[in-house]
Amino acid sequence: MTDTNFLTLTDQDWRERLDDMSYHVLREAGTERPGTGRLLNEERSGSYSCKACGAELFEAGTKFEAHCGWPSFYESKEGSVRYIEDRSLGMVRTEVRCANCDSHLGHIFPDAPQTPTGNRYCMNSVSLTFTPEDGSGRVDG
Ligand SMILES: [Zn+2]
Repeated sequence: MTDTNFLTLTDQDWRERLDDMSYHVLREAGTERPGTGRLLNEERSGSYSCKACGAELFEAGTKFEAHCGWPSFYESKEGSVRYIEDRSLGMVRTEVRCANCDSHLGHIFPDAPQTPTGNRYCMNSVSLTFTPEDGSGRVDG
C-alpha cells in the first residue's frame, strides 16, 4: 500500500490509472456482463484486492459459487468496504464500495443462506485483483 490519498484523485487521474472497462465499473458504478469476469472461476487460495487502490478486500476462502455470473464472497475483510443505499433501476439495493478509495465494487444481497454469514457480496471481477498464495503472480479481473 502506498501513501497515495486515493480520495483526492481527480477524474482525470483515475482515467490515466485504469483501463476503460475498469474505469467504467469502479468510477462510474458500471456492471460487467455476467459470466465474463476473469476471476469468476478462480479457485486458488489467496486474496482479492481492490484493482483501483490495492487494498485487500476478500480472502479466497470466503468465495463461493453463487451461479449469478459474478465472483461472490460471503464476507469482506473487516473495515475494507463501505455500504451505500442504491435506489437506481427502480430497486433498493446496497452498493459496496472500497473503504480506502471509494471505488464501486458491486452490491451485497442477503440471499446466501448456504454460507456462514448469509450474505452474497456480488462483485465485479474487473474491480478486483487476485493475488494467489502460490506466488505465481497477480491476476487482474
Ligand atoms: Zn480501493
